[in-house]
Amino acid sequence: MKKLIEDLWFGRRDLVSFGYDKALDYVGKIIPLTVHTVPSGEKAWTWTIPDQWEVKSAYIEDMEGNRLLDLKDHPLHVVAYSDTIDKIVNREELLAHLHTKTTRPNAIPYEFKFYKRDWGFCIQHNKLNLFNKEKYRVFIDASFKKGELKIGECVIPGAKKESIALIAHLDHPAMVNDDLSGVAVAVEIAKELFKKKLEYTYRIIILPETIGSVAYLSSNENIIPSIKYGIFLEMLGNSNSLALQRSRQDTEKIDRVAQYVLKKRFGDFLNGSFRTVVRNDEMVWNGPGVDIPTISVSRSAGEPNHYPEYHTSDDTPEIVSVEKLEEARDVILEMISIIDNDYFPKRKFRGPVFLSGYDLWIDWRVNPEMNKKSEQIMLRLEGNKSVFDIADELDLSFLDVKNYLDKFLEKKLIEKIV
Ligand SMILES: [Zn+2]
Repeated sequence: MKKLIEDLWFGRRDLVSFGYDKALDYVGKIIPLTVHTVPSGEKAWTWTIPDQWEVKSAYIEDMEGNRLLDLKDHPLHVVAYSDTIDKIVNREELLAHLHTKTTRPNAIPYEFKFYKRDWGFCIQHNKLNLFNKEKYRVFIDASFKKGELKIGECVIPGAKKESIALIAHLDHPAMVNDDLSGVAVAVEIAKELFKKKLEYTYRIIILPETIGSVAYLSSNENIIPSIKYGIFLEMLGNSNSLALQRSRQDTEKIDRVAQYVLKKRFGDFLNGSFRTVVRNDEMVWNGPGVDIPTISVSRSAGEPNHYPEYHTSDDTPEIVSVEKLEEARDVILEMISIIDNDYFPKRKFRGPVFLSGYDLWIDWRVNPEMNKKSEQIMLRLEGNKSVFDIADELDLSFLDVKNYLDKFLEKKLIEKIV
């Protein structure tokens, strides 16, 4: 994960751009990707696919030719999708187009204007005092051309056609935690899932924020009914604890499993309802007329600032640790494993099972909790509660309950209801 981040982070990966395509190609060399393309100008539901944007150079000079800001120094110095300009402006006009972040005065903020043509620069707030003259030359050499928006999809087939989508975006230039960390974790999850025998099919989907999801879903409307859940991944490498944003439905199994896993591992965690923790593509996946229950897992501390370096040039590899990325990967894999291995056990016995006779007695010295609750499990085998429901209700480990009930299954004391 560290290597992917080191190799990709400083590139320009704007929505439709060479830099984005290059980064997607890189990901496609690690996991097999089908690349869906949608041309600029094409309608996608109520949206229009933007043009390909490339910026060659951008700077601000005073009238003596002293360069006060130069894109060469940092990709964030220009507003993403900024219009081209070559003009002498007065100080007031310049300041109206010069963005800073007062709460992080030594960092360059990330600004973008994808859908309205305008020009703009970004600079450290502490450098605003450089702009004390009356006139400046502003120069941006950018091009807007017809291109193709690209979505990378890695399908990991399971026994069922029904699928679970893991979504991450790749379009934030020169930043790491938001959004490259989600891609790094998604790629690792894909590698792990390829090693497993799966019940559901999994779709790892790498795209540019919002418009990528609109483009993907609007051009694949036929598969929407077969996507059972979505899991959005972002901001997974910084030092905050993991946070959950629940689906719009709020009480779907994906919500319950995510809460169960996070609670079991961490006790307390930020557990917010739909659109209250971090707002991303779940607005599309779980949005009007799509309705796929989509949770989001991040390390956001909540709106609006998420983490101190959010959307600035301080979002670098230094604020992301492999341990945190791995922890996020493991948590997601645990959620997936529960959903993938769950089933509804239905009793075939009458009266309490003679546990010792079937070699099902749990030694209280080995597992006191399971010993105590084994009869509670036995009372819940009517076919209306899944293994996960039972583990959740009794506050037991899913794996313990599943391993125990698998033995009941082997001994033909229960049957699986699909
Ligand atoms: Zn962002």
